Amino acid sequence: VQPTESKLKSLAEMDSKHYLHPTTIPKKHADQGPKVIFSEGSGIHVKDVSGKRYIDGVSMLWNVNLGHGNKELAEAAQSQMSKLAFSSSFAGYSNEPAVHLAEKLSSLASGSLNSVFYTSGGSEANDTAYKLARFYWQLQDQPRKQKIIALKQAYHGVTIAAGTATHLTGFHKFGGTQFEDVFHATPHVTECEQGDKSHPSYKGCIRDIIESEGADTVAAVILEPVQGSGGVHLPPDGYMESVRDLCDEHNVLMIADEVITGFGRTGKMFGVDNWNVVPDLMCVAKGISSGYTQLGGVLLHDRIRNTIVQHDQMMAHGFTYSGHPASCAVALKNIEIIERDHIVDNVKAMETEMNKGLQYLEEKHHTVTKTRNIGLMGGFELYEDPATNKEFPFDLKAGLEVGEECFKRQLILRALGSADGKNVVAIAPPLIIQKQEVQDMINIMDEAITAFE
Ligand code: PLP
Repeated sequence: VQPTESKLKSLAEMDSKHYLHPTTIPKKHADQGPKVIFSEGSGIHVKDVSGKRYIDGVSMLWNVNLGHGNKELAEAAQSQMSKLAFSSSFAGYSNEPAVHLAEKLSSLASGSLNSVFYTSGGSEANDTAYKLARFYWQLQDQPRKQKIIALKQAYHGVTIAAGTATHLTGFHKFGGTQFEDVFHATPHVTECEQGDKSHPSYKGCIRDIIESEGADTVAAVILEPVQGSGGVHLPPDGYMESVRDLCDEHNVLMIADEVITGFGRTGKMFGVDNWNVVPDLMCVAKGISSGYTQLGGVLLHDRIRNTIVQHDQMMAHGFTYSGHPASCAVALKNIEIIERDHIVDNVKAMETEMNKGLQYLEEKHHTVTKTRNIGLMGGFELYEDPATNKEFPFDLKAGLEVGEECFKRQLILRALGSADGKNVVAIAPPLIIQKQEVQDMINIMDEAITAFE
């Protein structure tokens, strides 16, 4: 039974009056209320309270990887909650799902990433990774190694430390003073990280910052294997490997932020596996539980873990929900399904479909350019004239307009204002998507872009 018009209206009114939303324009929301109130979902679809059905083309926040309405995940939560909903992980307490998940994550991650520190989400994971990196260097008698180098266009979350590493300026304006000792390097120029000092982009690359600040002051480099919210930027050939080599050369830790790219999104279990790179610390969240429960974590290389476990005093860091039993039970089931149903193989197959669809859009529409995807993480840019490299002025919000046209046609995509002011539209459907559904998405995008043009 659908709620009546007046019930819907009062729900919207309560929302705008009592609910301050994240990453939302407060005045617009207070004046206009929510754009949509979702009430249920199944597979790649979600429905709103009036019964209207949408394709979720971005897995909500790049996280609902197994799609909506998955009964097995719901049952895993229900069963663990009925048995033991919560137990502490502090001071020697543990619980079964947290232990099993820790062991499972170690077996999934390549190299010697054999232990985990749990958090409630991605920002906490990145903050924890910074602290672990700095703690590691303190234990190594190198307390000056404190600085963190992130990349321009990065998104690492919104807590103060992770938010400083995020390079989208809107996130810096909110909340005042930034965390100290965080630098932003020019991303994705392999030659520079390999040491080509004559390259025009050398100044400001990671290598340049490490060398000018002094490697003895740098704790870690943090990067997303594929940049997500900053505009879906894929690294060029050799880049990830050259950053790994650079970190080894200068004795700097490499932190991979796999919050979006983990658990199959890019067609490998983890993003770094596309380049056979093993980071020292690997941050995960989102797809670890397909968003059914809140969970994040930092996987530690044995080298870091073995140093930390020599420490004979309290490691004063942890969250109430570190190792939450119900979240860990859901994550275990999520991983079981990913393996059992060969979800990563499906991502590889659908990567080809999405790639074909995006190419079709680029060939057909004169405004669409720079289409890209790796696995089921993709996007395109909108230009006034790609042939002459003429961009739409960013304040025209071409990306938002195309996103809006898609929304009208019941496809949810994400318009991103990339850090360099380009209009990017991001696509990241649930990893269970099938060929016809990819085609349906492309058809809607095709119509939406035509309407925009
Ligand atoms: N890191 C990356 C790459 C992300 O995309 C996000 C969220 O979008 C985060 C970190 C922050 O995660 P959370 O919102 O769970 O704190």
